[in-house]
Amino acid sequence: MIYRLVFLGPPGAGKGTIAQAMAEAFGITQISTGSLLREEVESQTELGKKAKAIMDAGQYVDDETVASIVENKLASMGKEKGFILDGFPRTIKQAEMLESIMQKLGIALDAVLDIEASDDTIIERLGGRVQCSKCGKVYNLKNVPPEEEGKCDGCSGKLVKRDDDKPEIIKMRLETYRKKTEPLISHYREKRLLLTIDANGALKENIDNAEKALKRINEKKGE
Ligand code: ADP
Ligand code: ZN
Repeated sequence: MIYRLVFLGPPGAGKGTIAQAMAEAFGITQISTGSLLREEVESQTELGKKAKAIMDAGQYVDDETVASIVENKLASMGKEKGFILDGFPRTIKQAEMLESIMQKLGIALDAVLDIEASDDTIIERLGGRVQCSKCGKVYNLKNVPPEEEGKCDGCSGKLVKRDDDKPEIIKMRLETYRKKTEPLISHYREKRLLLTIDANGALKENIDNAEKALKRINEKKGE
């Protein structure tokens, strides 16, 4: 079963973590524009240097730049491979760009999962979030702590806090989300692609909710 999915939802709702688990479970590729941008920052490319300041301010990198990263990735994967776009599109313009990219490749989206969590949940989660500086695995000091403090369970890499996970920047990211990304919810609802996932609970429960929603797609596809 090939899935071609988009994950929407506010920062801290758990998009990335749920996407990571589902991509593994279904053998499809997780494409996280946030991670791809952080890689550019890390390697200090021209793009990365420009993006860092924008990301650190809790704002969005421009549509053309992000869309070209996604286009390269999708084109290099070939059309037989399923994927989860985690964090793209985030604006109506990006959604239109994605549509034309996919049209060119001769593929279509199966569904858009809107991963929803309340502001309280979000602030609590982002406040405790740390990430492996080597492999990118995400932990949460409250609900998903590492076995050994400050160290990645998988690769022993150092766990660090993201530069944009500071309280005042979190607030800014939420505002940017409400203004620019929330309109995508009705955009995809009108296209009959939207599935809303409650992600306020424990991680396991949230992954279950997402997988159940996918079963509904299968039923829709008649499989
Ligand atoms: P979160 O969803 O928790 O904010 P991400 O890792 O997905 O975190 O994204 C981090 C930052 O990367 C965003 O705040 C934004 O600056 C930039 N970014 C990621 N995806 C996009 C996108 N599709 N369009 C514009 N900027 C993006
Ligand atoms: Zn690691």
